[in-house]
Amino acid sequence: MSQGDHSAYAIIAKKRDSKKLSPDEIKWFISGLVRGDVADYQMSALLMAIYLNGFDKDETTALTDAMLYSGEVLHHGPKAIDKHSTGGVGDKASFILAPIAAACSVEVPMMAGRGLGHTGGTVDKIEAIKGYNVALGLKDFSRLLKEVGLVLIGQTGEIAPADKKIYALRDVTATVESIPLITASIMSKKLAEGASGIVMDIKTGNGAFMSTLPKARALAKSLAETGLRFDRSMMTVISDMSQPLGNAVGNSLEIIESIETLKCKGPKDLTDLSLELAGGMVHLAGLAKTPAAGVAKAKKALKDGSALEKFRQMVEAQGGDTKVIEDYSRLPVAKIKTEIPAHKAGYISKMDCKAVGMHNVLLGGGRRKSSDPIDFGVGFVFNKKIGDKIKKGDSIATIYHNENQASQVADIIKAFHEGDVSISSGAAKAPDLIREVKIYFPKKNTKKK
Ligand code: URA
Repeated sequence: MSQGDHSAYAIIAKKRDSKKLSPDEIKWFISGLVRGDVADYQMSALLMAIYLNGFDKDETTALTDAMLYSGEVLHHGPKAIDKHSTGGVGDKASFILAPIAAACSVEVPMMAGRGLGHTGGTVDKIEAIKGYNVALGLKDFSRLLKEVGLVLIGQTGEIAPADKKIYALRDVTATVESIPLITASIMSKKLAEGASGIVMDIKTGNGAFMSTLPKARALAKSLAETGLRFDRSMMTVISDMSQPLGNAVGNSLEIIESIETLKCKGPKDLTDLSLELAGGMVHLAGLAKTPAAGVAKAKKALKDGSALEKFRQMVEAQGGDTKVIEDYSRLPVAKIKTEIPAHKAGYISKMDCKAVGMHNVLLGGGRRKSSDPIDFGVGFVFNKKIGDKIKKGDSIATIYHNENQASQVADIIKAFHEGDVSISSGAAKAPDLIREVKIYFPKKNTKKK
């Protein structure tokens, strides 16, 4: 098949032979895919060639550009800053940092994803609030950004449609774990949303897609370099995902914990990370001279209740039941609670965070296939985290489940005792929450913290 000056065959062969593709070839291939002139099997072959032989900075930029302009591209002002997380277990920071940043006059245009594998999805979680509409069109998205200061919706078909096609192919061709492909996928969507700066929370640890620090660093660098090439200011934060963030895992349970955090009663790790990321957003928006000054503003907005009020305004503007903020019984939470007792005394030394995420998925809190419904009510609340001292029989975590799940719950308890949670006899250290922070501004100075 050949159109214009290129042929899909020749481009695939070139990358197969480890040669560099030109921006024109990449653009031709991606627009051909969107038009239907390039077949899915040809795209799949090129994806595998990229996975095996890599893409350099120029090729990654060209792929991002081609995917970005496959759909609508929005432009907001310099105060529009978004945040993206590479995904984890119990990661509900968006619900806290977005209202905090908005309360500090940042405009937060957030398009979030659904659960992926063992990780939960921001869009699935917010839908636990009855009536909340994540399916707004782009006009309403931009209107609410101006009116409320923050808006949180799901991916729309108008933004980077090439990514939707390519992601579906990567998912079934074992080509997800490629840094240039992940970079182009994330950045094409984030750039199209119209933010002038992006805070990237790159998770590392056994519950993250980038399980090791070197891999997380490589992804952070690739995301930042690509953002800079598109004139965006960027903050990359590498944060811990060797245990769930906060205590709650599960859709409604995470919404409750987020609201508690906005009421200044949340767990310390979740509060600290949300403040760090929100402070970075305030700094990137030019509303604080340094990230530390941004964090100070963020703390004030959390303490004085203005962040909680922004959350309420967002829920109201998107049709959700705002009464949940005062009355958690309006959220669907599973009725039965079963404790997971410690099988011995000592210190929690390690968790299999990915396994915890998978337990939640299998209880119904996530999807095994895309058509599965979500059970908002199930999940876990951890009573102990890494570094905590524990007595035999103390509760490590509470499982929230349904009546017909007794045997599944017994299996989960067994899995916790057989390795999902390790207990050492000597003291164990809690992992560092934030491993690295870097801030980049286009053209002018590149700062490091
Ligand atoms: N999230 C995305 O949007 N794309 C990827 O490739 C990986 C995570």
